[in-house]
Amino acid sequence: MIPLEMIEVEGIIISEKPYGESSKILNIITKDKGIIGVLAKGAKRLKSPFRSVCQRFCYANFNISYKDDKLSVLISADVINNFKNIKNDIKKLSYLNFISELTSGVIKQNTDKRIYDIYLSAILKIEEGFDPVIITNILELKYLSFLGVLPKLDGCVVCGNPKVVTISAYKGGFVCKDHVNDDYVVSEKTIKLIRVLEYVDISKITKLDVSNTVKKEINDFLDDYYDRYTGLYLKSKKFLKSLTSL
Ligand SMILES: [Zn+2]
Repeated sequence: MIPLEMIEVEGIIISEKPYGESSKILNIITKDKGIIGVLAKGAKRLKSPFRSVCQRFCYANFNISYKDDKLSVLISADVINNFKNIKNDIKKLSYLNFISELTSGVIKQNTDKRIYDIYLSAILKIEEGFDPVIITNILELKYLSFLGVLPKLDGCVVCGNPKVVTISAYKGGFVCKDHVNDDYVVSEKTIKLIRVLEYVDISKITKLDVSNTVKKEINDFLDDYYDRYTGLYLKSKKFLKSLTSL
């Protein structure tokens, strides 16, 4: 038998399902190992030390017997954050659901470790009380480069002119006044903000003051862009849309 490797991994449980009579299988997005499956023996038992840890969206350090491409086994876990504020708010929780589903879709296409950092910093900001809509939009914008479909944001997508008047999902980025045709024209503030958001480090955000118009324009652009170019169809997005249209 090949001996198992004992390691500590930092990660966030994105799903858990029952296994046998008393155990659970956890899917964890980790900092260093991508998405892993972990067996938590006896986690459903009332007296199990794993009981409180093995919940969806628990952020913890997990000690595991690690096996590449197979189910690892949980030995112990230290909770870092349970995201209590998010879990007490249906809207915030829906955004956490969505960004978690999106993140696992992105990690399946790209193993870059910065994806985990973006995901974690977005959750921490939502937990801190920042607007989940705009935090989610920043994350979505950043993920586009990992999906290999970053829109053209340094000038007009047709001619390269840095003086742009709107952003078009159909055309694939910013467009200037000569190439705007019948595209919807967004506000100047939206253009400025998209340029800033592409480079902003989510963990360093201390203030977010965005008008509803700008928020809607950025969100509409990203929705349209994701539909057209990423091939990701997420169930949680549908729910989110029904929630925000209320
Ligand atoms: Zn142009």
